[in-house]
Amino acid sequence: MARYTGPVCRLCRREAVKLFLKGERCLTNKCAIERRNYPPGQHGPGKQRKLSQYGIQLREKQKMRKIYGVSEKQFRSYFTKADRAQGVTGDLFLRLLERRLDNVVHRLGFAASRSAARQLVAHGNIFVDGKKLDIPSFLVKPGMTVSVTERHVANPFIVENLERTRMRSVPGWLELSPEKPEGKVVSLPSRAEIDTQVTEQLIVEFYSK
Ligand code: SF4
Repeated sequence: MARYTGPVCRLCRREAVKLFLKGERCLTNKCAIERRNYPPGQHGPGKQRKLSQYGIQLREKQKMRKIYGVSEKQFRSYFTKADRAQGVTGDLFLRLLERRLDNVVHRLGFAASRSAARQLVAHGNIFVDGKKLDIPSFLVKPGMTVSVTERHVANPFIVENLERTRMRSVPGWLELSPEKPEGKVVSLPSRAEIDTQVTEQLIVEFYSK
């Protein structure tokens, strides 16, 4: 399935929660969830349907997939990988998604959203261990450094995002340089260090049927 390129606020409204797909705008009262928290469509707010257990699991799966911006095929392959590995499947699944290069670029504050981070990576503006890497799905490992190319060090968007991120701090499994747009992966992320608001157990149940 092709990647969704339509209005992203519709995705949040469909799930009735903030998925934080638009960077800083999501923190303001311009957020569509603040103004119109009902599913998109021409009929306006209707009666809420009661979801079946399957429906609840499906919505949770769609929510997480939209947060990380990956296709159904990719998403399922992460699940298969997590399911085959030793450990708690839900935690491993989430960890795989967190380790994606586009997510790390966003977490380090080089981009305000995952989609902007994905664009930075795909356009060849990101270095991993000093080498250009343009694959957003690349999985980082502990010890790797992630930085922006020379050309983008003074980019006003990156500088502004970094300032905001430095005020908020980055997750414990990453380390951000205090002087330049460069970060290090210090460990694999634990569940406690991932602030994504999803119940991954529901997704495990969804795929385990
Ligand atoms: Fe979702 Fe952000 Fe749009 Fe709000 S502003 S609806 S959180 S993408």
